[in-house]
Amino acid sequence: MNIALTAHDAKKELMVQFCIAYCGILSRHNLCATGTTGKLVEEATGLSVHRFLSGPQGGDQQIAARISCNEIDLLLYFRDPMQKQALEPHDKNLLRLCDLNNIPVATNIATAEVLIHGLERGDLDWREIVKL
Ligand code: PGA
Repeated sequence: MNIALTAHDAKKELMVQFCIAYCGILSRHNLCATGTTGKLVEEATGLSVHRFLSGPQGGDQQIAARISCNEIDLLLYFRDPMQKQALEPHDKNLLRLCDLNNIPVATNIATAEVLIHGLERGDLDWREIVKL
């Protein structure tokens, strides 16, 4: 499965801790991320992460482009609800594109935990069938 990771600044450490905790599961999938999030996750876990540009340079829009082509199977997007960025149009668009393609998305760690366990259990295997 192709898993995309991105986190607002205040949530980056949480993303790193999440990826350390679930390193075993994540290592069996293809990971991509916005620039800074990807760098931090790679350094902390040793996982191989395809890094797009940083968010402000358009990395989130690169992820959005892959989501619009239905090339991402799971988006873990840790948002900081107190940050203005969480209300920006391209931020909303990322979530809209997930809805368009029925791509599972977690915007906080509580949902991410559920999805990662579901992924491990095979609950998202239908994504492979849909793409055939
Ligand atoms: P970053 O992008 O991982 O490159 O920081 C995410 C963001 O814009 O917050």
